Amino acid sequence: MSHSDNRYLKEAYYYKITQRGVQCLICPHKCILKDGQIGICHTRINRNGKLYTEVYGRTCALHLDPIEKKPLYHFHPSSNCLSVATVGCNLACKNCQNSTISQAIPSSVKSVYLPPDELIETCVKNKCNSIAYTYTEPFTYFEYTLDSSKLARQKKINNVIVSAGYINQDPLKELCQFIDAANIDLKSYDNELYKNLSHATLQPVLDTLITLKAAKVWLEITNLLIPGLNDNKNKINEMCHWLVDNGFEDTPLHFSRFFPTYQLNNIEPTPLNTMIMARDIAYEVGIKYIYLGNVTEINGDNTYCPSCHKLIIERKGYYVIDKHLINGKCEYCGYTIAGKF
Ligand code: SF4
Repeated sequence: MSHSDNRYLKEAYYYKITQRGVQCLICPHKCILKDGQIGICHTRINRNGKLYTEVYGRTCALHLDPIEKKPLYHFHPSSNCLSVATVGCNLACKNCQNSTISQAIPSSVKSVYLPPDELIETCVKNKCNSIAYTYTEPFTYFEYTLDSSKLARQKKINNVIVSAGYINQDPLKELCQFIDAANIDLKSYDNELYKNLSHATLQPVLDTLITLKAAKVWLEITNLLIPGLNDNKNKINEMCHWLVDNGFEDTPLHFSRFFPTYQLNNIEPTPLNTMIMARDIAYEVGIKYIYLGNVTEINGDNTYCPSCHKLIIERKGYYVIDKHLINGKCEYCGYTIAGKF
């Protein structure tokens, strides 16, 4: 690490000292690191007996996006959002679309120094409704996410996390105080798949969903359907039942179509019939708002009123082209549509 890179170092907020080294307490991996060692996420290092993040303000991606791109379909539709990321992820998904930044080491990726105050200033200048901590894993750059969120809140900018949800409860609960909305990737209701596909486990992700909901963070869920891995009818059914049984029937569920990528480039794209089957199962189980992403052949982006079934938000891709909502209620029957409108 060069001398100038020291500006990206910040002492970690959640760790403890053990006889075997410093232990990071951010995520369920709970890495124990000897002097000089880095964590599974490639962004945390033991330096002389203290744990540091190496990516504080080390921004490797910065874009203006419509909020629908996160995807968040029930959170200030058509508003703009500044998306930010640093290098690093605590998962290692074989299907990662951003592996060049998520699986890299910080010094190998071109980054700019954008500490929280400058990041939020960039939001203000661009008149952004929200800032999204996204693309890689915002929980691995926890300190940057938390400090930026606090400043954003002061400036009345919404904070959005787009995450795989693999975090411990204490840091999550602290962050929840400043987060307005989240899209969490629920890969499957299958612990074996979590282990084999992502080097993670299922239960902490379910716990994250429950904690976010209890903290009244607006939540949407994404489930990528990968042929032969998690597109089994029974597995989709089980996942939807868990969601409904745990009070997530009003939480928008985005089924996303898989395309060959990274280490899974030998698997064919998800058949359209599978996408439609998943949507049918979810409706049948009782989920009210279901979307199909990465699909151009059929429209999976519209919102229908769960009560009168009329089209209330018409979208083309990420863009809203017509809306029939009055103060968050269906214009036709008055049903309250879940979300922040
Ligand atoms: S955040 Fe990184 S260093 Fe900390 S426990 Fe998770 S993988 Fe390990």
